Amino acid sequence: MRLLKEAKVAGKTVLVRVDFNVPLKNGKIADDKRIRTVIPTIEYLRKKKARIILISHLGRPDGKVVDDLRLAPVAERLSKLLKYPVHYEPDCIGSDVEFAVRGLHEGDVLLLENLRFYPEEEKDDLNFASKLALPADVYVNDAFAVSHRAHASVHAITNFLPSYAGFLLEKEVKMLSGLLKSPKHPFIAIMGGAKVSDKIGVIDNLLKKVDAILIGGAMMFTFYKALNYEIGKSKCEADKVALAKSLLKKGKKRIVLPIDVVLSNKRVVPADKMPKNDAGLDIGPETQMIYSEMIKKAKTVFWNGPMGLFEQKPFDRGTMAVAKAMSECKGVTVVGGGDSVAAIEKAGLEKKFSHVSTGGGASLEFLEGKKLPGIEVLD
Ligand code: ADP
Ligand code: MG
Repeated sequence: MRLLKEAKVAGKTVLVRVDFNVPLKNGKIADDKRIRTVIPTIEYLRKKKARIILISHLGRPDGKVVDDLRLAPVAERLSKLLKYPVHYEPDCIGSDVEFAVRGLHEGDVLLLENLRFYPEEEKDDLNFASKLALPADVYVNDAFAVSHRAHASVHAITNFLPSYAGFLLEKEVKMLSGLLKSPKHPFIAIMGGAKVSDKIGVIDNLLKKVDAILIGGAMMFTFYKALNYEIGKSKCEADKVALAKSLLKKGKKRIVLPIDVVLSNKRVVPADKMPKNDAGLDIGPETQMIYSEMIKKAKTVFWNGPMGLFEQKPFDRGTMAVAKAMSECKGVTVVGGGDSVAAIEKAGLEKKFSHVSTGGGASLEFLEGKKLPGIEVLD
């Protein structure tokens, strides 16, 4: 992968694809983490006296202009974070954009409008990409979270400009490929969340690398069903039971299932003694202890997916136990996945992890061993 460090950017106009897809509440930015994560790349380019054009999507406008999804509030917030004015242009291609770029001085920053106001963006349209590229000399991708999509601003655009990976993308690839290429053992993966179907590819690929995969979340019931356990009213993907069975066969003892479960009435039961009339909403205290011990002793840990219905107390305990054990682990600790990351942030533990991935879907596809379109083109 070509890296930003190697690029000649001094005095150049650099187009940077970032992920400013921030959560909005009543038109206000509810969380600016996505803006903060690309500050190092922007600061570096400013120091190098580049002229910086930032491009991003926000939400799902589906190829139309949606006023609520304009990037103006993001420009304002970025300006505060950089302590430097950020120009904003309410379009991402065309003569107004070219005019605004011509007005930039060295070190200036210009944020363009939501890319997805144009249907061409998600169609990886070459003509649209060439228009995006027009005012720039160099392209930088620092949007790992969209790099699993072949969209014009991450894929087609690389046909028109020398292209490099920004610092955030570089760290993501380094940490995630480290898990696949040279993990220190014991290597433990913890997989939870809503559905097995979302995670089959990852479980399958990680089974070749890990010493154990600890299962939690609603997906555990699909595995129990595969073992013919009673699962009561718990969530289960009936059409994935055969698949769970084959994963269990393939993984043998490396797939570890919870030994106790917390029911919706808060009672704890052994996993093989679940009642017919209740649902399991979390891993039980004994499982939490076993998992925590394994995690603390590991040299490499990857986690995706909450252990239970963590949005609702007390069913957050399993998830919090895993988060805490990982924060105490001295090895390399990596988390990926929207809800898992939200859970560790809620617990205020994100600084204690080696890496908190900014890409839910992208991190999973990467760990499945798939080639990501936006990363491949930087090779
Ligand atoms: P991530 O975003 O980290 O990849 P997922 O989206 O796959 O995770 O799953 C998260 C969702 O799964 C959460 O909303 C959580 O409440 C739900 N969940 C986890 N365990 C259970 C369970 N036992 N019953 C119902 N929902 C669950
Ligand atoms: Mg999720």
